[in-house]
Amino acid sequence: MILSSEQLTTGTSNLASLFPKKRAMSRSASGIARERLAEAERLSRSGLPISAIALAEQVRNEALANGSQHIYALSTSQLSWYYFMTARYEQGAVHALEAIELWQVTGDAAREASCRCYYAWQLCQMGMPGAEHEAMQALRQAEKAGDPAALCLAQNTVAVVLWMYKQFEQALDFSTQAVALARTVDDPVALGWWLINDGGIRGDHAAIKAAQGDRRDLVATVDHATSLTEEALALALAHQDHWGARICLGNLAEFALHLGDTDRAMAHMDHWQQLPGELGDRDLTQYHRCNGQVLIAQGRIDEAIVALKTGVEHADQVNDLESGVPGCQALAEAYERKGDFKMALHWHREFHEHYVRYCTHTAQRSARVAATQYETEQLRNQSETARLQAQALEVSNLELTQETDRLKKANLEDPLTGLYNRRALEAALAETQKTGAAYAIALLDVDHFKRINDRFSHLVGDEVLRQIAGILGGLIRKSEFLARFGGEEFVLLMPDMGSAEAAVLCERLRSAVEAWNWAEQNTELAVTISIGIASTDGTDAPTAILAAADALLYQAKAKGRNRVEVSHATGA
Ligand code: GH3
Ligand code: MG
Ligand code: MG
Repeated sequence: MILSSEQLTTGTSNLASLFPKKRAMSRSASGIARERLAEAERLSRSGLPISAIALAEQVRNEALANGSQHIYALSTSQLSWYYFMTARYEQGAVHALEAIELWQVTGDAAREASCRCYYAWQLCQMGMPGAEHEAMQALRQAEKAGDPAALCLAQNTVAVVLWMYKQFEQALDFSTQAVALARTVDDPVALGWWLINDGGIRGDHAAIKAAQGDRRDLVATVDHATSLTEEALALALAHQDHWGARICLGNLAEFALHLGDTDRAMAHMDHWQQLPGELGDRDLTQYHRCNGQVLIAQGRIDEAIVALKTGVEHADQVNDLESGVPGCQALAEAYERKGDFKMALHWHREFHEHYVRYCTHTAQRSARVAATQYETEQLRNQSETARLQAQALEVSNLELTQETDRLKKANLEDPLTGLYNRRALEAALAETQKTGAAYAIALLDVDHFKRINDRFSHLVGDEVLRQIAGILGGLIRKSEFLARFGGEEFVLLMPDMGSAEAAVLCERLRSAVEAWNWAEQNTELAVTISIGIASTDGTDAPTAILAAADALLYQAKAKGRNRVEVSHATGA
């Protein structure tokens, strides 16, 4: 429920006004509503969260029509969690906010704490800030309320937030406490979930340490994570929680991969596929990605590529950017393993593109959730301040829109020329180096550009840079990577190319700039560029190749400019 600012100012958003008097439902009607909510809960815990949503939404609508605030609050709380389960985090956050507000009004601290936890989980999943604050507040409230079920949830939520921030040791403190307490509460399905996270944190920590070269505890820690997750899997299967079971199997496959046991990983993925229940969009994209990673580990690269592509296509179709980003990255890795660096670069670019879209999307979601947060704050402040706050919302929306634009641009793009920027170049270089393949780099610099600025103005100078970007961009192939390095310097990265081939291409670029019809800017304007080219068989550091290209550019300048200098030391 996202309300417009007009609705806010007229006060129709006021949640409390939906329940003017405490009108009690008849006892039998309320009993039936509770039974249906219990049924929704059973569905959600049997791998049928989509059916659970349908039922709880019905109950919620009826409660609204009947004016039953308590049933409305219960169904909204449950829906918040079911939306989380189906990866519809934005709806989940909106429901959680509404439920928090209602429990606050009725003074039910334990339920408020639980909904705050749901809210924190959704914020984490959406990559939005504020989760740590919500989680800590939930923990305090649950402690105060003395409700063990709410307390395990809150401890686990704090653990998940710390995990997100890679504070593994502190995260483990909380997740261990949550599991110990959950063992004293009679809710085996929830115990399973807290075990999943306790195992997940351990497994992730071990994998990250191993990636940094510290493999001392890898086997012991991953074994521990595996046994916790196996316990969770047994609980989930015993109670038909197929949603939880799928998460367990995905994690177990990952743990098996950490230990190099690809057959076991594959067996977990096979088991995953056989589980009944409703598959959400995210289940499918995650399955394909996980499966792709197992296939890569098994050296079955072509099959992995098919699986990963299916996953990315599905993620694109349903606009699931969280899954699309790592999916593209995995595809780049798969092609790299195959030795197809052109496709690896292609998928690396797709990865960047998805990442930028993900950032944009996150900022937009922040705007929408901020709007809802604002709406719920209205409850406390009533209508006389509504107008002022609506203005504040407009300002914050505007700021968020600006932030969105900034993120989009600042990430990878040079604002003047629209080319990739230096950051994008550095990432591309790092990626190219990882492939170990040969490449050439050209450093291109406008000749006597200072004179152009001085004689024709900075505006003309800027236009010259834009036009050069257009000329160069029009002459290179998709597999080549052109960036503005800074000032009047450009860098061209040419994968799989030796010096000789690069020199031919650069000579074409140089002469195109020289031959360009600059008279359109000013009849007296003439522009040329100098180019230095260095190449490597892939064993040199990118900074060394850039420095070599720079030295050759210096030679080109010294020899009179408007020329290409190339090293023949390495490469073809
Ligand atoms: P050389 O042939 O040796 O490269 O001479 P140059 O004049 O091109 O080199 P120099 O490094 O002395 O001057 C580069 C100039 O580029 C100085 C700086 O004011 C100008 N410049 C840097 N960035 C921009 C920009 O974005 N727009 C404009 N118009 N000028 C810029
Ligand atoms: Mg320069
Ligand atoms: Mg220059």
